[in-house]
Amino acid sequence: MRFEKRVWLASPTMHGDELRYMQEAYETNWMSTVGKNIDEVERQVAEKVGVKYAVALSAGTAALHLATRLAGVRLFGVPKAGEGSLHGQKVFCSDMTFAATLNPVAYENGEAVFIDSERDTWNMDPVALEKAFEIYPDVKLVVLVHLYGTPAKVDEIRAICKRHDALLIEDAAESFGASYKGVQTGSFGDFNAISFNGNKIITGSSGGMYLTDSKEDADRVRKWSTQSREPAPWYQHEEIGYNYRMSNVIAGVVRGQLPHLEEHIAQKRAIYERYKAGLAGLPVQMNPYDAANSVPNFWLSCMIIDENAIGEGRGKATPAKILESISAMNAEGRPIWKPMHMQPLYAGHAFVTASGDDVGADIFARGLCLPSDNKMTPDQQEAIIATIRECFEG
Ligand SMILES: *Cc1c(COP(=O)(O)O)cnc(C)c1O
Repeated sequence: MRFEKRVWLASPTMHGDELRYMQEAYETNWMSTVGKNIDEVERQVAEKVGVKYAVALSAGTAALHLATRLAGVRLFGVPKAGEGSLHGQKVFCSDMTFAATLNPVAYENGEAVFIDSERDTWNMDPVALEKAFEIYPDVKLVVLVHLYGTPAKVDEIRAICKRHDALLIEDAAESFGASYKGVQTGSFGDFNAISFNGNKIITGSSGGMYLTDSKEDADRVRKWSTQSREPAPWYQHEEIGYNYRMSNVIAGVVRGQLPHLEEHIAQKRAIYERYKAGLAGLPVQMNPYDAANSVPNFWLSCMIIDENAIGEGRGKATPAKILESISAMNAEGRPIWKPMHMQPLYAGHAFVTASGDDVGADIFARGLCLPSDNKMTPDQQEAIIATIRECFEG
């Protein structure tokens, strides 16, 4: 069985209004980084997440960079031109994530220390984080991701940060619309970011946002994102600036997508449930979440093969074999995001585990991301499930 049209991991799903709002930007000539689309998406996202301010930016990475810089400035003051705001200081970061979560720590001349993942949600392990503070008691900043749209153990992580007087950056790039104890992700950190990259739950084709309750921080991010111009008749600069503002055309796409967020989440949840039912009886588990306390946005469905079922022969399979079989059907799976402590880029950076067990490496070795596109039909998904089942038949 081979699909004629490729089934993607997660691709943009458009609805029509995106084009209308882009056209409106064109026809009214608001073709720059100012306009009604930007105002509207900032208002709507702030309302959805439950924060006072949202600042539309060119990418989630830009939002994370400015979040990291704000944290650095809060902790150590405004650096001179040519200096990063983190001055070589260590920062505790989620380990199993996309590199964009924590590359900004390096942009700001900080040193990422990686905190291992826990098995309950695949996110930062609070036990490992506490241990890291015992080893490095001077650390003042933590960067936390909600991987694949599954909320992390927010209460535990926040309590540890509070106890150690550390600030928290929340990377909700993959989890827009997910909630923890009834509160939306993207509102828990001292500094928060979401993304509208093409593969996310809703998209602007690109784009991201900085989210906060602090007017001062929102104003500062807006200023930094537009080249840090001081109010003066000429170009006056007291701080380093960036060209990170969202375009009003891109904001038109986001504006057209926003009314479909809950619909996308419902589709993603149905995909997750269909995999869960279809794979029942195999020696595999779906990516786990804390059903009592959190509602994921189910952005990506993933699975992990039981330890004793990794290998060749009847009743066994490997992620590589399953990914190959899925690919042969013209569908896109992907390995688990490779943990940062295993990346050549961050070789030599410290990595703290809860108990000596490398949980991230284990999930990477036994897990995989399944085709999770909103436009995948139930029939296509059933065919993918059948292919996965065949992989275990030896
Ligand atoms: C996509 C993503 C980002 C970066 O967002 P962009 O909008 O692509 O810059 C950051 N962190 C995580 C976890 C992501 O998945």
